[in-house]
Amino acid sequence: MSTKTIEHWIGGAYTRGASTRTGTVFNPATGEEQKHVLLAETADVDAAVASAAKAFEAWGDSSLSQRTKIMFRFRELLMEHEDEMARLISSEHGKVIEDARGEIIRGREVVEYACGIADALKGSFSDQVSRGVDVFNFRQPLGVCAGITPFNFPIMVPMWMHPMAIATGNTFILKPSERDPSVSNLVAELYAEAGLPEGVFNVVHGDKTAVDAILDHPDIAAVSFVGSTPIAKYVHEKATATGKRVQALGGAKNHAVVLPDADIEFAANHLTAAAFGSAGQRCMAISIGVAVGEAGDALVEVLKRKAEEVKVGPGEDPESDMGPLVTPAAKERVIRAVASGQDQGAEVVVDGRDYDVVGHEAGFFVGPSLLDRVTTDMDAYKEEIFGPVLGIARAADVDEAIALINANPYGNGTAIFTSSGAAARRFQREVKVGMIGVNVPIPVPMSYYSFGGWKDSLIGDSPIHGPEGVRFYTRAKTVTSRWPEVRQTVDAAFHFPTH
Ligand code: NAD
Repeated sequence: MSTKTIEHWIGGAYTRGASTRTGTVFNPATGEEQKHVLLAETADVDAAVASAAKAFEAWGDSSLSQRTKIMFRFRELLMEHEDEMARLISSEHGKVIEDARGEIIRGREVVEYACGIADALKGSFSDQVSRGVDVFNFRQPLGVCAGITPFNFPIMVPMWMHPMAIATGNTFILKPSERDPSVSNLVAELYAEAGLPEGVFNVVHGDKTAVDAILDHPDIAAVSFVGSTPIAKYVHEKATATGKRVQALGGAKNHAVVLPDADIEFAANHLTAAAFGSAGQRCMAISIGVAVGEAGDALVEVLKRKAEEVKVGPGEDPESDMGPLVTPAAKERVIRAVASGQDQGAEVVVDGRDYDVVGHEAGFFVGPSLLDRVTTDMDAYKEEIFGPVLGIARAADVDEAIALINANPYGNGTAIFTSSGAAARRFQREVKVGMIGVNVPIPVPMSYYSFGGWKDSLIGDSPIHGPEGVRFYTRAKTVTSRWPEVRQTVDAAFHFPTH
């Protein structure tokens, strides 16, 4: 049986372009190499940019009502195809179907925000700033924009970008992760069905070659990136050097503080889901619990019980809480991280390294792991493991917990579990992290706010989607205008205007 090859979508049609190299797409639950994906050459990126640049001539001039109608139709189609998309994501990423559905819904919320673009794009107007003079501003699209995205949310993360870019009048090239690329092609088909003109949304599959071609291309105005911190830094440096706008979101190591006054059962329940959901492959996953004072032993005891109760199995099984990791390499990395934690002195309370799922022995499964007494000098603390490993660090008080988080190079998300409003308020004001949960473990902002961390979790200064997304994909013009009445004479002033 021939293995399916996933092609690019350029100018409203599938194409192999100049690509001859391919990457492997696994079914992580079975270990099977189920598909191949084309890996673009520079010529393929050039073709996509040419198509997007041509489409921009009309799309950049399209009316707000035309864009809005297409976004509303696209939203309906996303709802109609939710099951199909959830299954497709699960089969290539490994996450459980309900979790895949969750990311589709969170992505769709950005489309819903984009449906209101006419309101979000309103400029401002100052009447009579001087006698007979008005000032107003408005925002215009940039041109061809590109998005480079990670494997862990194959539909949601690209949707942080393209609905915002397209609704603001830009054309877009998506370079999705080569690990789970198929759903991006389905999205392209749905945009076409919604009436989006060809060339406005393109998908180029690939690896570093495609990314470099995007970063170097003189006709791309802006690049949005989400992925690991080293690549975010690389993208930011290279794309800004060629004069592009860049938003670059990186990796994370998210801490959840549990104070002794918290409901420990409630906190442990949420920590378990936030650490092991999607097999820990979320940029907002909790990977370190910081147990304060006497909360420590009680918390670890409940977490042990809950970690052992997590049902690990294929994503398509509705009984599974957690699926496999995305690749064999990811599985090896997690096993190594638990071993290094143990070697460097952490206590392995639950060991998920040797974990077989009956009937799926070749799948990339590990079980949840719980490491206690993790300290900041351990590799298991310093590295972003990106797997189902929860480390517990101990802190004497809330000040020590805040200091520990603030010393970490990442600053994506964090949470505090407490029944004290004063402690929560102090935490939210003093912690150097972009997204904070109070008794909420994964505080992903809604689409009408913007998403973004601090420090090494966001390179540059632009968070993504929501109002910041509108700003990122547009530039402002400010007009100072005077319309003299026909018989009115206005002497031109030669001094600098002071009104
Ligand atoms: P990754 O950095 O390996 O890949 C991201 C993208 O960059 C992919 O499209 C990939 O093809 C490309 N890429 C990979 N290596 C490259 C190279 N050497 N040169 C140029 N391009 C390259 O990330 P991943 O493993 O797909 O995703 C997991 C990472 O993404 C984690 O670090 C996670 O924290 C991060 N992430 C962050 C957020 C956030 O909002 N901050 C959200 C999701 C994921």
